[in-house]
Amino acid sequence: MTDPVDAPVTVVGAGIAGISCARAVAAGGIDVRVLDRGRRPGGRMSSRSMHDRPVDLGASYLTARAGTPFAAVVADWVDRGLARPWTATFAVAGPDGLRRTTTGPLRYGAPAGLRSLVEDLATGLPVSSSVAVREVAPGPVVDGIPVPAVALAMPGPQAARLLDSASALAREAAAEQWRPVLAVVLGWSGRRWPADLHGAFVHDSPVLEWIADDGDRRGDGAPVLVAHTTPEVAARHLDDPDAAVPAVVDAVRSVLGIDADPGWTAVHRWSFAKPAAPREEQFGLVDGIGLCGDGWHAPSRVESAWASGAALGRALAEAVRDQRPR
Ligand SMILES: Cc1cc2nc3c(=O)[nH]c(=O)nc-3n(C[C@H](O)[C@H](O)[C@H](O)COP(=O)(O)OP(=O)(O)OC[C@H]3O[C@@H](n4cnc5c(N)ncnc54)[C@H](O)[C@@H]3O)c2cc1C
Repeated sequence: MTDPVDAPVTVVGAGIAGISCARAVAAGGIDVRVLDRGRRPGGRMSSRSMHDRPVDLGASYLTARAGTPFAAVVADWVDRGLARPWTATFAVAGPDGLRRTTTGPLRYGAPAGLRSLVEDLATGLPVSSSVAVREVAPGPVVDGIPVPAVALAMPGPQAARLLDSASALAREAAAEQWRPVLAVVLGWSGRRWPADLHGAFVHDSPVLEWIADDGDRRGDGAPVLVAHTTPEVAARHLDDPDAAVPAVVDAVRSVLGIDADPGWTAVHRWSFAKPAAPREEQFGLVDGIGLCGDGWHAPSRVESAWASGAALGRALAEAVRDQRPR
């Protein structure tokens, strides 16, 4: 059997936190591998090709606080044309129409979809897709293979399924509350909403929380919207997300005053979309088993997940270096 000290550190999860973690481990001079059950890296920065263009189904955009290391990563993406400054201004709507606008931090989109940014960050890392990890036992041992350390870069309840249920780490992870969301994509043959909409936060609606203009954020002007439901609607339809679509279509048409049904729709279910109470700590680490992602380093956002993963990666690299014979 391989000596765990010589095996690569294993990162489970190729979302932005896992990839950022793996990069930090590798930057510390330690071998690393990344395993993900999905077909491609990205996790909740998910873009799927629909009607010949990518549509963002998870995160709507990303932010980058000025002066942070993540801001430098985003600036590099912008320089290379992978990310684009989108907008700082969105509409605020009620169920029956647009009410006002609100301005906040600059939001960035990606012409090829947010997934393309995670894939770019993963360049050069050994990432194995379509590999579902089943068990992370004390040691740590990942599906029977001893490793010097492991990072679980995913929502706590998903991590808890892999861990020894008696461990304190597993109990804490399992206790995290996460909210579900349905993302409903609506496509028309032409644009039927204000050109300066960008997106709309929807208040007081039993159905909707947010509508994004996907063509606007992507920069191709396609007449496609992505609506995110309230957690309550998502929770009621987790077993049959398609059944929620008619109510979402009606709600979007009412908010934006659109006089026709979309020509096509699609729906994606996020059972663990957002943590109800993300922790302040950057990551968890007990006996070589680390947890990171947007359940850590509040508030829950792409930039927090990146920073959480990077901080855990640095800690794992240091811990593994300390284990090695000098
Ligand atoms: C609907 C929605 C809207 C959002 N909007 C925004 C927004 O506008 N702005 C923003 O900043 N953030 C937003 N977020 C949050 C943002 O998407 C997350 O903060 C970020 O993508 C989390 O990254 P992560 O790497 O921590 O987790 P994830 O992206 O969830 O990655 C976890 C990975 O682990 C893998 N995995 C899980 N279990 C296993 C297993 N057993 N074996 C192998 N692999 C496994 C999964 O396949 C996945 O790829 C939104 C999220 C959702 C769902």
